[in-house]
Amino acid sequence: MELPFAESWKIKMVEPIRKSTREERERWIKEANYNVFQLKAENVYIDCITDSGTGAMSDRQWAALMLGDESYAGATSFFKLKEVITRLTGFEYVIPTHQGRAAENVLFSYLVHEGDIVPGNSHFDTTKGHIEGRHATALDCTIDEAKDTQLEIPFKGNVDPKKLEKALAEHADKIPFIIVTITNNTAGGQPVSMQNLREVRAIADKYKKPVLFDSARFAENAYFIKTREKGYADKTIKEIAREMFDLADGMTMSAKKDGIVNMGGFIATRREDWYEGAKGYCIQYEGYLTYGGMNGRDMNALAVGLDENTEFDNLETRIKQVEYLAKRLDEFGIPYQRPAGGHAIFVDASKVLTHVPKEEFPAQTLTVELYLEAGIRGCEIGYILADRDPVTRENRFGGLDLLRLCVPRRVYTNNHMDVIAVALKNVFDRREQITRGMEIVWEAELLRHFTVKLKPAGK
Ligand SMILES: *Cc1c(COP(=O)(O)O)cnc(C)c1O
Repeated sequence: MELPFAESWKIKMVEPIRKSTREERERWIKEANYNVFQLKAENVYIDCITDSGTGAMSDRQWAALMLGDESYAGATSFFKLKEVITRLTGFEYVIPTHQGRAAENVLFSYLVHEGDIVPGNSHFDTTKGHIEGRHATALDCTIDEAKDTQLEIPFKGNVDPKKLEKALAEHADKIPFIIVTITNNTAGGQPVSMQNLREVRAIADKYKKPVLFDSARFAENAYFIKTREKGYADKTIKEIAREMFDLADGMTMSAKKDGIVNMGGFIATRREDWYEGAKGYCIQYEGYLTYGGMNGRDMNALAVGLDENTEFDNLETRIKQVEYLAKRLDEFGIPYQRPAGGHAIFVDASKVLTHVPKEEFPAQTLTVELYLEAGIRGCEIGYILADRDPVTRENRFGGLDLLRLCVPRRVYTNNHMDVIAVALKNVFDRREQITRGMEIVWEAELLRHFTVKLKPAGK
């Protein structure tokens, strides 16, 4: 008999979590104005609001913390981190930053100017923010298939080469670089194939443009290439990652994802001009070049985290857990964006709460129902997150309305995944009785989902 699959680690330290009663949760969510960002974390049983900075460090990472060099300039911790990044990526120049958006801010301060166009695959919110904030345009060239939630294809995060080529043919003089997000977070943690990265490189070379990878989940992307793309089954994750980065000029990184640290990020590049151009902004916004907003101890922990999380066993444990949750949802017939991505499951709320009108925010309603059911915190990636149209001030109902359940790295067991799946099933089973959703009481003009105040509609 084939041995069953099990985690590639054992547990050395635990953090107790607390269940609550439905009465308590009803009170807490009301006090939070039906917005899960306003809940106290201690009132959450299983927290799936994000996989960012919520991973569990290994014993080796905790040991590395103690050896942090907190020297202001020239700390050994910086050189350790730089050595690992250069070994994994081939990029010689490294600028640490306090998180991913800070890396964007520093590099884009040098590269992006008013009127520019930055084509790529579904730019992440902060990436888009740092482009649009500079009065430039983030042009989405993701394949159309990514919009169909039920379509199963292996690399649903890909760039559409035709859209990219068109953008370059029309606007080459306005394009400072092409950005590829690996994995494609906004499309549901969907991977980008090596073949696609090669196609992007070829188009970039034709028009003499550099390529930047937004690399928050590059290791998960490498895992998908190994397990799904022809010719990569026998390569190591480190070999695949290196082959990916060989196709880029540089990267920005949120280390809170695949670096498995609670805070951190960096820029890495092979281009001396990018390094020379960006370094002044690092000093201005983040700190001196050998710490850039990070503690020495955190750079040490990140160096170990990057090394560990580019090993197959660690990634297999993680991706299989997300797949496990997806399989449980399949058993119950709960619709989600297919196939399951690397870091989260996106439940298609408009297909679950079919009796809640879109004007009453089905995905937000499902988020609240799941919290009330079992103290599980997901978050809405839907009509509230989409904000209002800047011109008409109408709600934007054109996109998808999803409940995102992120799985933190090395934190929960499959028993927790079972609780999430069954809690969702219980809500799913009574979906016909859920006929009213949420009503907005107060909202901010931009990024309203973090602070919006809601109440049950019609009450
Ligand atoms: C999280 C993330 C960022 C921003 O990183 P922070 O560390 O949260 O600032 C950028 N791009 C992608 C794809 C991300 O997932």
